[in-house]
Amino acid sequence: MDCIFCNIIKGHVPSHKVYEDDNSFAFLDIAPVSKGHVLVIPKKHYVNLEDIPEEELALLIKAVKNTGKILKEKINVKGYNVQENNDPVAGQIVPHIHFHIIPRSDDDGLKLWPQEGYDEGEAEEIIKQLKITN
Ligand code: 5GP
Ligand code: ZN
Repeated sequence: MDCIFCNIIKGHVPSHKVYEDDNSFAFLDIAPVSKGHVLVIPKKHYVNLEDIPEEELALLIKAVKNTGKILKEKINVKGYNVQENNDPVAGQIVPHIHFHIIPRSDDDGLKLWPQEGYDEGEAEEIIKQLKITN
């Protein structure tokens, strides 16, 4: 299998490493949303959140936390967004699970998700389909 992120971990494709531990690797995104945009990935290949075992996901989230701390301490990042695009319909292009850490600044002009409301009964219909009872 030819996976770009597996090749980065193996060192076959160059990257700018930000953080590494036994299970995880973090490097600069080649097309950053903002300067210091980092991708945090498991060293083992898993496609997405459903695929990765919980214990390994916990280790990956720890690496996200450690990397965010490094960005705050070393390059003065004031805050950041963490995003994981799960499946192509959600914008996942590289099928090796990764968390984006996107540094934010007061004047970066980035907008978060547009939000909308529910029409009458829509929320109840979704809850019915989910079979959740109060
Ligand atoms: P996705 O859309 O799958 O959540 O994000 C994939 C990310 O990987 C994109 O932000 C893209 O810029 C980044 N990316 C793709 N190929 C490479 C690469 O070869 N090197 C690095 N550093 N980033 C990459
Ligand atoms: Zn991979």
